[in-house]
Amino acid sequence: MKKNPLVIKFGGTSVGGGKAFVRAANIAADEAMSRPVSVVVSAMSGVTDTLLGHVGAAKAAGRMNGSTNETHEDSLAALHDSLYARHLAAAREAVSEEYLDGVEARILGHLGRLAERMNDPEASDAARAAEVATHGERLSAEILAAAIRSLGVESAVARDPIAVESEANTEAEICPDTTRERCSRNVAPILDGGSVAVVPGYVGRTPSGKVTTLGRGGSDLSATALGRGIGASEVWIMTDVDGVMSADPRLVPDAALMPKLSYREARIFAELGAKVLHHKTMEPASEAGIEVRVGNTFNPECDGTLVSDIEDGEGVRCVALRRSLRFEVPCANGRKSEAAMVVGIGVPGSDDLAAGRQSLRKAKIPVLHFGNAPAGLVFSVSEEYAEAALRTLHDSLVGRSLAGEAVA
Ligand code: ASP
Ligand code: MG
Repeated sequence: MKKNPLVIKFGGTSVGGGKAFVRAANIAADEAMSRPVSVVVSAMSGVTDTLLGHVGAAKAAGRMNGSTNETHEDSLAALHDSLYARHLAAAREAVSEEYLDGVEARILGHLGRLAERMNDPEASDAARAAEVATHGERLSAEILAAAIRSLGVESAVARDPIAVESEANTEAEICPDTTRERCSRNVAPILDGGSVAVVPGYVGRTPSGKVTTLGRGGSDLSATALGRGIGASEVWIMTDVDGVMSADPRLVPDAALMPKLSYREARIFAELGAKVLHHKTMEPASEAGIEVRVGNTFNPECDGTLVSDIEDGEGVRCVALRRSLRFEVPCANGRKSEAAMVVGIGVPGSDDLAAGRQSLRKAKIPVLHFGNAPAGLVFSVSEEYAEAALRTLHDSLVGRSLAGEAVA
């Protein structure tokens, strides 16, 4: 395989419609001028929810047994029509005339197989759900490959390269060795031929070759697992925000973009619920030493967040909130109450714990428990203070590390 391939992953909003597909295709085609590029793509935004909703509804109707086959057929036809309309509209905007018929035929082929899977009497509910759910990615991959071709750069959809360790229908562990083999068979020949290889994200193959999913949001993990499988030194996770923010920006208006994070920090932040990355994304990356850049498809000029093995100096870099933890809180009425936990992630300095406590005291937020944990500095408060504590600790701890940097 040629040296130094790049993996670029586009999330659901980055392929949310025709114009977004064109942006994504341009980013991939530009990079393909200088190095081999493999693209991992999510389903168009909302499509996975629609597919899983349909599987769930069909299952419930089947259980009630009151539903006739006709209702099932009707709703399957409605699903087919809406997916066809949405994907064809996007393809019409993103794909040039010469490739449009080919893409339409492939979209119809996938929709036909989707209907077969829905009606497969042999499949277990979970196996059916996995098969059906992955069709969102299969559809978007066809459009993206054709959109890249429309820009004059050869591109093909690769056969599922990611292998998992067990027959589980979702979230099984990735098998690095088999993934490497599948990559040399399914992805390398496309790259060696000078084309962009487009890989449907979220899909895994079990040891017996069955389709499985990597779990919700799993396309990020597809990207780093693919990166390890093809020997990439860089993976870009392209999303609809500028990068990883120092707190959930919906709860903390002052949250700032973090230019750098270590694998460890990114893993902890994702495990504690940061939405921007799937929680297992960093596993293959840290194991193979792949730099992960989180960037914005809609603002490609911004450098985003670079995740690597470099641990920066002292300081709390971001704060995460875990809510609704069952906690024995001594309340006036003696009942157990719910607590929330704010975790300061980074390399906390010796006086950060005291600074955090002091800021909470000043804000009149009672602290139930505080201390050092492997994840970082932990402050527990009762649920009603959750968001205020997050904002206060962001201000005092992350603000403090930024102020320190400015002085240094
Ligand atoms: N489409 C899948 C989901 O919505 C996987 C992904 O987008 O990462 O969960
Ligand atoms: Mg995601």
